[in-house]
Amino acid sequence: ADRPWLARYPQDTPTDITVEHATALDIFDAAATTHPNETFLHYFDGTLTFADIDHAARAVAHTLRNHGFRDGDRLALYVQNNPAFIIGMIAAWKAGGTAVAINPMNKTRELTYLLGDSGAVALLTLDDLYTDIAKPVIDSGAGSVHTVITCSALDFQTRNDERLFTGLTRTHPDDTLDLRTIIDDYTGADLPPVTLTADDVAVLAYTSGTTGNPKGAMNTHGNFAFNAQTYRDWTGLQPGEPILGIAPLFHITGLVGHIMFAMLTRAPLILAHRFDPAVMLDAIREHKPVFTIGAITAFNALAAAPGATPADFTSLRVLYSGGAPIAPAVGDRLEHIFGAYIHNIYGLTETNSPSHAVPLGMRAPVDPVSGALSVGVPVFNTIVRVVDENGDDVPVGEVGEFLTSGPQVVPGYWNKPEATAKSIPGGALHTGDVGFMDTDGWFYVVDRKKDMINASGYKVWPREVEDVLYTHPAVREAAVVGVPDEYRGETVKAYVSLRDGQSANPDELIAYCKTQLAAYKYPRHIDIVDELPKTVTGKILRRELRDNTN
Ligand code: AMP
Repeated sequence: ADRPWLARYPQDTPTDITVEHATALDIFDAAATTHPNETFLHYFDGTLTFADIDHAARAVAHTLRNHGFRDGDRLALYVQNNPAFIIGMIAAWKAGGTAVAINPMNKTRELTYLLGDSGAVALLTLDDLYTDIAKPVIDSGAGSVHTVITCSALDFQTRNDERLFTGLTRTHPDDTLDLRTIIDDYTGADLPPVTLTADDVAVLAYTSGTTGNPKGAMNTHGNFAFNAQTYRDWTGLQPGEPILGIAPLFHITGLVGHIMFAMLTRAPLILAHRFDPAVMLDAIREHKPVFTIGAITAFNALAAAPGATPADFTSLRVLYSGGAPIAPAVGDRLEHIFGAYIHNIYGLTETNSPSHAVPLGMRAPVDPVSGALSVGVPVFNTIVRVVDENGDDVPVGEVGEFLTSGPQVVPGYWNKPEATAKSIPGGALHTGDVGFMDTDGWFYVVDRKKDMINASGYKVWPREVEDVLYTHPAVREAAVVGVPDEYRGETVKAYVSLRDGQSANPDELIAYCKTQLAAYKYPRHIDIVDELPKTVTGKILRRELRDNTN
């Protein structure tokens, strides 16, 4: 195939790579076998080696199998950036199953849907998330979870950093299995042999794709094995060079750009329970990470951490930002502070993290017309076409939808053959992102076909927020759009009309949504209007509201 962008690859960079490991579990097992005593995780003052995580994952896998977990079963992970997430993910594989990555910000209605849709039979979560949210969901009959393992965010460390852990106590529920006890009691009994292949699903990562309905993107072992290598060979990171975890682990950026990358290069991965800039700054000073990847908002927050100076960031030499656009002026300002260029990287949950990235040591050009910063060039073994509505290639420089093929593209959505056939026909992904390739092979995203709102890399679907608004007794109609936000890039705004004879003010509607939606989803602004703009057929014109707002 004609791949004009290859001319942008630096010398010595391969254009295609051969996958060295069949499965993501092979990558972990190789590290645990050859370098058991090297550090895999730093969690505050806690240090866990590859052997420690291997023991813990085997212990959990053993417990799961004893509780009826079988090949192909799903273990849902509903925890923050905590060693428990990684232990659970590897345990699911060692038990012959699949991990389901769930955003710990999700509340009752979101968790109800995700447990039901994934059909998870086991759940690993925090003591308090269980008591407050997961237990009521399971008790209500949602899903088919029969085994629950809980832990405390305070496990695996002793520093108990009050900035993150205030108010958290270790109150283990009496109707769940305790992670700590499982690990401590495990004497190394054999696990039943499992045979995983590259085509087996390693993680169901939920995304709304090009429509508003959350779907489990089936990220396979082969997808992970390929992209772990993409990170290694694209960044040139050397074994042992520490990685700072600023992205959420449940998101594909954290799953691949933190966990898999650290496993493959045997890098210590530095984790903190939640993203708190001051805590992250301490971790940078202590562990001197070389690499990180996250949304540009996280870089902004780090730069603004109290007491941060450029001297704090000198260890961070290889920086990538993905998940949301980088405004060129923001990139320039951050480069000044970090003393290192932040390379753009682009991809979707359905591409297991990157499909495009700016090659290390190169700078992304800015499109003079739209002002957009290039997202880079397609990574190894990847073909990206820019197509029109009929699926035909548009000429170079013209705008169309990105259609992506490569070893990182997921085979489909869990139990959603129609959505798979629509979005990934023949294995090529309709990204829903609209953009173009310039004559030098650089790609630019200029718009989204999808109505998605991108708040700091967290994706919000108008439909879901509107559905919550519609449950309020005073609301007649609601339309949700993204509006520019200095900190988050975009944030959520709702237009609402009220039912006759009802009253409600924006603050109370915002408070109402806040109780039912993850924190990044509830509207920050609500305008109450008499009528929403509609098509002749009565369809609410979200796009018009968006264009008039921005
Ligand atoms: P997710 O599935 O959460 O990873 O979201 C994928 C979407 O994030 C893409 O379809 C894009 O709309 C957006 N996105 C990811 N990376 C970038 C980037 N570097 N620049 C602009 N948009 C991005």
